[in-house]
Amino acid sequence: MAISFGFRHGVHPPEEKELTHGLAIRRMPYPDELVLPLRQHAGKPAVLRVKVGDHVERGDTLADADGFMSVPIHASAAGTVVDVDWWPHPDGSMAQAVRLRVDRYAPHLPRPRLVPRWEGLSTDDVVRAVQQAGVVGLGGAAFPTHVKLAPPKDHAVHTLIINGAECEPYLTSDHRTMVEYAPRVMFGIRVMMRALGVSKCVVGIERNKPDAVAAMVAAKPDDLDVEILPLTVKYPQGAEKMLIKAVTGVEVPSGKLPVTVGVVVQNVGSVAAIAEVFETGLPLIERIVTVTGHGLRKPANLIVPVGTKLRDLLAFCGGVTADAAEVIIGGPMMGQAQANLDAPVVKGTTGVVVLAREETRAEQSWACIHCGRCLDACPVFLNPSTLGELARARRYETMSDMHLADCMLCGSCAFVCPSNIPLAQLFQGAKAALRRQLAAAS
Ligand code: SF4
Ligand code: SF4
Repeated sequence: MAISFGFRHGVHPPEEKELTHGLAIRRMPYPDELVLPLRQHAGKPAVLRVKVGDHVERGDTLADADGFMSVPIHASAAGTVVDVDWWPHPDGSMAQAVRLRVDRYAPHLPRPRLVPRWEGLSTDDVVRAVQQAGVVGLGGAAFPTHVKLAPPKDHAVHTLIINGAECEPYLTSDHRTMVEYAPRVMFGIRVMMRALGVSKCVVGIERNKPDAVAAMVAAKPDDLDVEILPLTVKYPQGAEKMLIKAVTGVEVPSGKLPVTVGVVVQNVGSVAAIAEVFETGLPLIERIVTVTGHGLRKPANLIVPVGTKLRDLLAFCGGVTADAAEVIIGGPMMGQAQANLDAPVVKGTTGVVVLAREETRAEQSWACIHCGRCLDACPVFLNPSTLGELARARRYETMSDMHLADCMLCGSCAFVCPSNIPLAQLFQGAKAALRRQLAAAS
C-alpha cells in the first residue's frame, strides 16, 4: 500500500465522530412542506420553470440551469407549488425559493424516465446527463460536478482523486457512504474515469475510518487502477489543495486550479450521486446528512429530501436538549451558524450539528499576543495574525496583497488562537468586502 505524502501545518480538533460513525444510514420520511432555493450551487442560480398551483411529481424539474455554470433544481417529492418567494437560505442570506406542499398520499414514484446507458455515451453526453440531473459537489462547496468532468482542454488530466478524508469534526456522511455504498462509489469512479479519459484514480481516506478503507478495498474492481490510500488524521486534509498534496506530493500553485497539476478532485458523495444518475435516472433530490451534536437527542445519518427545513430535521431526531446552544450547518470548523431553523437542507448540506453550551466559542476575545501559533497552524502559510490586524483596520487591499485569496477559511488559525480572535470570521468579512469593491468598480 502506498504512503501518503501528508501536508504541513494543520490542526487536530476533537473528532466527535463516535456519536454517529457506527450508525447505519436511515431514510427520513417526507415532511409536510419542502423549500427549494433556486441558488443551491456555486455559479448562476437556476431559472424558475413552475408557477404557484402547479402539481409536480418527484424528480420533476422546478428550475432550469442558467448556462454551463449552473444546474437545474428538481422536486424532491410529489406535491403542489404553494409559493415562490424569498426565504432564509442556510448561508445566512435570503434566496428565491419554491415552496412545495408535499402530497401525503402520493406514492412518490418518479415519472418513468430514461436511464442513460453510460457505456455508449460520449464525454459530452455524460457531462450533459450529469448537469441535467443537477449534481453538485456534495462535500459542501456545491461546485457543479459536470464542470469538473469537462476540464479545460489545455491541461492534460492524469489522475482522479476521490475525497474520502471527511476531516471536519462530527461529520460521518461520507464515512457511511463508503461503508454502505462502496460498489456504487466504485461505479461512479468508473463513469468519471471514462469521461475524463484517465487511467488512474486514488481514493484518500483518513485512518480513523478503517471500516470505510476495508469496504472500498473490497469493492475495488480488477479492471480499474483504483488505489485506496489511508491518510494520517489531520485537519483540513479534505480541502482540495491539501488532499492533492497528501496524495501526490505536488503543491497546486497559488491562485491555480487542480487541473494545472493534472488532477481532478471529486467528493465521495458526489461520485455516488453520479452513479445514481446512471443507475436509476433520478436527479439529485436527496442526500445523506449527518445530524448530530451533544445538543441533539438522537443523532443519526439520514437520507434527507433536499428542501427539508432544519426544524423538521431536528424534530425527526428527537429535538434538541435543554443545553443546546447553537445549530451549525456543516461542521464546527467551517460550518455556518443558523439564525433561522426555517432554512432548508440544500444540496451542499453535509451535516447539521447542534452544539451544547459548553462547546460553543466564548464571545470575548483579547488582543493578539504574537505567540505565532496561528502561523504554525495555517496550511497555506499565511500570516493570520497580521491579516487579522489588517481586517480590523479594514485594510482589505493590503490583505489582498498578502494573499488573502489563498485563505480557504478553514478556521485552523482561530482554533489555536489563545486570544480567541475570530480570525476566519474576520477573513470571511474581508473577502466579502473585496468582492463588493470589485463589483462596484466593474
Ligand atoms: S482560515 Fe485562512 S488564514 Fe486561517 S488557517 Fe485557514 S487558510 Fe490559514
Ligand atoms: S494565535 Fe492569536 S494571539 Fe497568537 S499570534 Fe495568532 S492571532 Fe495572535
